[in-house]
Amino acid sequence: MNIKSLIKRNFEKQPVANHSDYKSSILRAPKNNKINFPSTVSEISGPSFNKDIIRELDNDLTLNFSNKNQMPIGQKIIVYGKILDQFHNPLDGILIEIWQANSGGKYLHEKDKNDAPIDKNFAGCGRYITSNDGFYEFITIKPGAYPYPNRGIEWRPMHIHFSVFGKSFGQRLITQMYFQGDPLIKSCPMINSIPNSGAKKSLVGCLDLKKSKSDKVLTYKFDIILRGYNQTFFENRIEGL
Ligand code: FE
Repeated sequence: MNIKSLIKRNFEKQPVANHSDYKSSILRAPKNNKINFPSTVSEISGPSFNKDIIRELDNDLTLNFSNKNQMPIGQKIIVYGKILDQFHNPLDGILIEIWQANSGGKYLHEKDKNDAPIDKNFAGCGRYITSNDGFYEFITIKPGAYPYPNRGIEWRPMHIHFSVFGKSFGQRLITQMYFQGDPLIKSCPMINSIPNSGAKKSLVGCLDLKKSKSDKVLTYKFDIILRGYNQTFFENRIEGL
């Protein structure tokens, strides 16, 4: 893509790197000026993902780690949407990986010290490669909120982490989807580091009752825009175009 054809992102919609209410951002925020590094050939020439690598249950988190097809505990949901470019064109062949806590707000990870129980039928990770209309879909369990240390103990709203891989190693973007109506969204300092209300809203998956009725599973729609004025906020990319 010609760099001149890129629409610049709107920096008013991006969070400040150093947000006083979000303790980790103070530790992580760069203290020196940014330095541009040109990409190497190996960084921009791969990887390419073949849709054949995706197995049947990779996007079904209710079954991909279950024992003898036992369902994990919690509300079964579908999360679906499209991956779009700066002109809102759908993007084919984009690898999406997600990870999340179980319905009790516990990650299957040794460093998760939350008291909530592990669900032996739920690992909380899945992947999908978009079809040519940019579409993706995951079947999963609604994640629980969980406490974490910030200004004392605070609560993360229910969320699903998304990683979106482009055509090269330098094109991996990471964000989070929240759930429409979750009262914890309002008080979350991570979300509140984004100053623009429209940009905050773009991180919230919307309840799609029409699809919920037809599929008989509670359904949330979450589109991701990779570039441009209406770009989704990516936590690993707060600088540059
Ligand atoms: Fe999380």
